[in-house]
Amino acid sequence: MNLHEYQGKELLSSFGVRIQRGIVAQSADEAVSAAKQLTEETGTGWHVIKAQVHAGGRGKGGGVKLAKNLDEVKELAGQIIGMNLVTPQTSAEGKKVHQVLIAEDVYYPGDNEPEEYYMSVLLNRANGRNMIMYSTEGGMDIEQVAEETPHLIFTEEIDPALGLLPFQARRVAFNLGLSGTAFKEMTKFVSALYMAYVKSDASLFEINPVLKTSDDKIMAVDSKVTLDGNALFRHKDLAALRDKREENPIEVEAGELGLNYVDLDGNVGCMVNGAGLAMATMDLIKQAGGEPANFLDVGGTADAARVEAAFNIILKDPNVKAILINIFGGIVRCDRVAQGVIDAYKNIGDISVPIIVRLQGTNADIAKELIDNSGLDVLSATEFQEAADKVQEVLS
Ligand code: GDP
Ligand code: MN
Repeated sequence: MNLHEYQGKELLSSFGVRIQRGIVAQSADEAVSAAKQLTEETGTGWHVIKAQVHAGGRGKGGGVKLAKNLDEVKELAGQIIGMNLVTPQTSAEGKKVHQVLIAEDVYYPGDNEPEEYYMSVLLNRANGRNMIMYSTEGGMDIEQVAEETPHLIFTEEIDPALGLLPFQARRVAFNLGLSGTAFKEMTKFVSALYMAYVKSDASLFEINPVLKTSDDKIMAVDSKVTLDGNALFRHKDLAALRDKREENPIEVEAGELGLNYVDLDGNVGCMVNGAGLAMATMDLIKQAGGEPANFLDVGGTADAARVEAAFNIILKDPNVKAILINIFGGIVRCDRVAQGVIDAYKNIGDISVPIIVRLQGTNADIAKELIDNSGLDVLSATEFQEAADKVQEVLS
């Protein structure tokens, strides 16, 4: 589950990470009150207006603007709220902006120039350890830095038994070229950031940029936080931060029905019991020359109600040109699944795409007979290859 920038910053702040202060607003008027309040609290005269959507690169897309007075706050907030923000990380249609963060301007002039760094904490899946990845090249795409100047990206691996050690936090500050106050600030920043990551069961905290202000404070100007969905049951407060408006609506609906569904770009919908078989089925579709339109694991009990719910979810995707049902009857009997498919088909009524059903396992032969005699536009198969051939047939 992803958080908005403002939610991520509040979370960071609760662990003692210094952040660029801000207040979220749903309208231009709320933006003005937020700006006034920030001026009272921080003394800032300038404010940044930042679109709150689950996508990075907002600055490039016009979703981050500097306002030098309250009139500009009102005007810019009014422009950004309601816009369809297109960034390098969104689709061409962009994402609708429902709210903005009004933040204090922290790039104020002073003794030194403000400097931007990159920092993230994430799980290194190659060795199952958390690591801190950081760079002197902040504020730009880290992918681009990785490609063009990989020697400017540093990593610090964390031993799960020892946690982040003080010398590691100091090494981060050293590699970023800091000294004096900024050095001390950075070691505190890194330790608090790592604590926030661990304690909230996150899989990613990305702060780009981390800012060194002109008066040597180190703070988070942006935040991208991904929490481990499987750990949310023990973080009720964090689970409540979910913003379903930012998620794929079909996936949200499938989740509510208890189906494991991931939307993909292809044209063959699939309905499978078991995640492993679902992965194999996607390979099968590719091999047959198609592209999977989704990953869908209906779970162990593929009864008529679930099959019908799954059909309805798959059919919401307009790209689907065929549906492949691949069920292994281990605990469930294939004939019951077959009857479920037939009943669901009749209930829904107007399924216009061909359906290929492969049922294998207990009572597979009876199931095939049921499907073949149903009179519906449903092709049956018992072997994997047979199913693949039939997918190819209906696509061509
Ligand atoms: P992103 O584009 O989605 O990654 O959004 P960011 O939160 O990183 O903001 C984009 C850019 O806005 C940053 O890289 C900064 O250069 C700029 N920015 C953010 N906060 C301030 C601020 O307080 N003052 C000024 N002048 N620029 C800011
Ligand atoms: Mn950023």
